[in-house]
Amino acid sequence: MRGTHTVKIIPVKRALLLLLGFSAQAFGTGLGSYTELVVSDSATSPRSGVRVTYLGTNGYQLEFKGHALLIDPYFSRVDLLSVAVGSRIQPDISRIADGMRHLTPRVDAILVTHGHFDHLLDAPIIMSKTHTCLIASRSSIDLVRQLPARSVTHSIAGAPDASAFAKRFDTVTAGDVRRIGPWKIRVLAAAHDRLFGKVPFDRHEPRSAGPPQRASDWICGEPLAFLIEINGQRIYIDSGGTSAQLPPNDRVDLAILGMALPDSRARLPAALERLQPRYVLPSHQDNFFLPLSDGFQFGPLTDFTRVQRDCLRASGSRLILLDYFRPWTLPAAVNPKHQIPNNTEPTLNLQMEDSAKPRDLEDRTFRFASSVRTFVKQLPRTVSNAEDVRQLVRASGSVAANWIEADAALSKKDFLMRVKICHKEAKESRFARRVR
Ligand SMILES: [Zn+2]
Repeated sequence: MRGTHTVKIIPVKRALLLLLGFSAQAFGTGLGSYTELVVSDSATSPRSGVRVTYLGTNGYQLEFKGHALLIDPYFSRVDLLSVAVGSRIQPDISRIADGMRHLTPRVDAILVTHGHFDHLLDAPIIMSKTHTCLIASRSSIDLVRQLPARSVTHSIAGAPDASAFAKRFDTVTAGDVRRIGPWKIRVLAAAHDRLFGKVPFDRHEPRSAGPPQRASDWICGEPLAFLIEINGQRIYIDSGGTSAQLPPNDRVDLAILGMALPDSRARLPAALERLQPRYVLPSHQDNFFLPLSDGFQFGPLTDFTRVQRDCLRASGSRLILLDYFRPWTLPAAVNPKHQIPNNTEPTLNLQMEDSAKPRDLEDRTFRFASSVRTFVKQLPRTVSNAEDVRQLVRASGSVAANWIEADAALSKKDFLMRVKICHKEAKESRFARRVR
């Protein structure tokens, strides 16, 4: 999508109709093919950490000790046809009620990355139901202010109080910092991906003085990202982006990176290089035109194979996926000083039984890459082994990434070339492991 060639600009509506064609043909692929990447809490998971719940699209609930933040909560899931033909759209009260059953009663704030309907449409209602404040860009807050007061206050117990409601808007721009309860929120600049060459509904001022009615009225405005500090951990979240606006050079524990469109996939390696996350969670890649009750299905324009390949190549980051409404507690970082008991030799657990099926190479190469990452985390860092460790991580990830590409090869020649690279990288991994 990016590059020196000229991208033809086509109107958003035509692009959406084209997308409708894609969707009709696309067979929904769910998380079933990636069960090894899907994480969630079990009965034995510690309850003391930061809990992340995926709400679909780019929506999340972050919880810590009875406090919660919501980011881009969106349950209505307006269908693609309504968006493509420009019908009137509105929040789906019953779907919002269903979604909110998964939320904690105490929400400290709702953060919204930009004004598109799949990020902002439901926020005013959730805001009034949870009696919380909205932190968003000026253009997003302008949109919400244009809604009739009754439509955003009707669910507040007792008489609607529009003035009290108005106090709960917090307009932010990049560089702002907010401290709310245990949360420290840094607001960062972000960019929005292009859909077929153009940012959808790319305006900074509302189209009219009246309330937003159609998808195109929910304008993008200034896209924002957030760096959230909580419990000594750092979580970066955006809703996508381009290579022109990368995340900050700040190590984080969890990077939630929007992955709906080719622009955000193109910037993924550079974003991972800058954030160096312990965990990377590709976001906004489900088909958000389908109701949540249909379960997670990848969107028609996503390319998870490529996302997986780029994440495997990034050293030190573990790729994860979350299913709708299944909370996961972000593990605490292990202090390297306390990680290796004295006299204990680090071990590389490859778990490769000879009886393994020959066709499960994707799983086996992935486990190999994961085992190597676990292994190198146990090693003491010295000047002499730093380069070897980097090489080992890169080569082991490359084995898995190239196998994924071989498996999806379009021709026999392409397949053979990829498999040869797998072989070469496997040999390089063995070499780097020996010299440590
Ligand atoms: Zn958007």
